[in-house]
Amino acid sequence: MTAVDFTPRQVERYSRQILLREVGGVGQARLGRASILLVDGGAAGRTAGLYLAGAGVGRLTLADGREEFRQDLLRLNPEVAVQVQPDPGFKESWDLVLDCGNRLEEAKILARQAWSRGIPVIATGWGGVRSWMARAEPGGRCLDCLTQALPAEFRKNDLPDELGPLPSILGGVAAGEALRLLLGLPAPGSFLLLFEGAASVYHSPRVTAADGCPRCF
Ligand SMILES: [Zn+2]
Repeated sequence: MTAVDFTPRQVERYSRQILLREVGGVGQARLGRASILLVDGGAAGRTAGLYLAGAGVGRLTLADGREEFRQDLLRLNPEVAVQVQPDPGFKESWDLVLDCGNRLEEAKILARQAWSRGIPVIATGWGGVRSWMARAEPGGRCLDCLTQALPAEFRKNDLPDELGPLPSILGGVAAGEALRLLLGLPAPGSFLLLFEGAASVYHSPRVTAADGCPRCF
């Protein structure tokens, strides 16, 4: 799909985005050509997938071995190719890895694999009344260094308690960040965003590279 060969239906479908100065026809075509590996179709991934498919990201591959989440993504925008596979794998060159699995250690392993291929990573996690999102771009801070500043509670996997809509809040922000990255909109590079749900406060702590990190310069 290029800027010049939208069908009338596509022009209608994406008209609200094409009208945006930040997107336009060129940006919409760029989204249509993009391919994202979306890890986990649970609470945050479902939100991110909905927004990305609605926005016309051309190819979404969902890595999720859990059957119960599949239908939510498969009922989306029929112009978007959604592929489901049981684990992330690296079978093609992704434009982006978006990890919504809330498993920090697994996300860091996947991010290292992505970075070795020059692929940017956006990851999100949550627990209790707080959540986080990190954008790790090659050339900036890596996910290991970004998340070293996270409170200890986030370093556990499968936290048992969470405020209902909490994952979706930064899941939606993560989807927006994915679109900004695909569109090449100005960004501060790698960063960490924390959301304190009890006070409804967002903050982005300054992150330095860990001593001797082989990925950060
Ligand atoms: Zn690093």
